[in-house]
Amino acid sequence: MPQLRQNIITGEWVVFAPERAKRPTDYISISTERKQKKSDCPFCIDSTKSEYPKQIEGLEKKHTFVLKNKFPAFVEDPDLESAKLYKIEDEFYNMKIALGGHDVVVIKDHDQELPDFTPAVWTDLIETFKQRYNYFDKIENVEYVMPIYNHGPQAAASIEHPHAQVFASSVVPNIVSRELSHTAKYFTEHKSCAFCDMISHEKEQNTRLIFENDDFVALAFYAARFPFEVWVLPKKHQSHFRDLTEQTTAALSEMMIKIFGRLNETLNDPPLNFFIHSAPVNKEKNEELPNYHWHIEIAPRLSIYGGYELGAGMVIDIITPEQAAEYLRIGKR
Ligand SMILES: [Zn+2]
Ligand SMILES: [Zn+2]
Ligand SMILES: [Zn+2]
Repeated sequence: MPQLRQNIITGEWVVFAPERAKRPTDYISISTERKQKKSDCPFCIDSTKSEYPKQIEGLEKKHTFVLKNKFPAFVEDPDLESAKLYKIEDEFYNMKIALGGHDVVVIKDHDQELPDFTPAVWTDLIETFKQRYNYFDKIENVEYVMPIYNHGPQAAASIEHPHAQVFASSVVPNIVSRELSHTAKYFTEHKSCAFCDMISHEKEQNTRLIFENDDFVALAFYAARFPFEVWVLPKKHQSHFRDLTEQTTAALSEMMIKIFGRLNETLNDPPLNFFIHSAPVNKEKNEELPNYHWHIEIAPRLSIYGGYELGAGMVIDIITPEQAAEYLRIGKR
């Protein structure tokens, strides 16, 4: 029977209608051939044709460097006062300038794909995300910072060279707003963090847990919106991603390598996105929110949303997270 499952973090509903007993091989997408050569690549440092802006200084590491996005979704405005307020457009609509920032974090090695990142690459990437978070935290209009990664053309990676992006916005993004308000409600009712409770519950149940180490768990999310969706969470309650230490960064790198290795093995290098959800920036105060727990969501892009998903804002998923966890734990097809 199809099921409705409620997302305990946002309160939203997801429909599970498993089509039939499918195997992971049914989800393997035909891999598209890689065509972009290093000589035509805007991110290869030695490319003479690069029209890309210069690196942001002081952020280069052994394996990564940072550029400002050539076509930014959010811009830094030198005239801070100008953009604080909503403007009424046509005397009718609300509008404001999309302030913030939009960086590209480039992995130096053109040929090193996400599933092959070494611990050293992960460390440089995570360290850069933290540095940019701390930078945007000091910018007056920035309310939120979100690092993301697109892997594969079906996951909107328009340039093949491996790269992450950091979005800084003057508004808290819609999904994060829902997570914040629903977990605040949960906290009022239960006097505990929904994420911490979910981690304990998943460890007890042991049907959706995929991996754990001393500091992190990886699980197939109960109300997944994507087949094989995986969440990675720190075991200890922590609201801000930037509070990762050297030790927990190493543990996170280990976890990411295992998860992407297993997704690659099971689904043959699926297109995917991942993003980091952390508490909104709070101007260097670094206050812990009792209801919010930072986490990483990994979304393989194996299904296409249809009219119902768009019309209902409610997703129909065709593989249960219990099945997905079973495959990902042992890496079988
Ligand atoms: Zn390149
Ligand atoms: Zn928590
Ligand atoms: Zn989230």
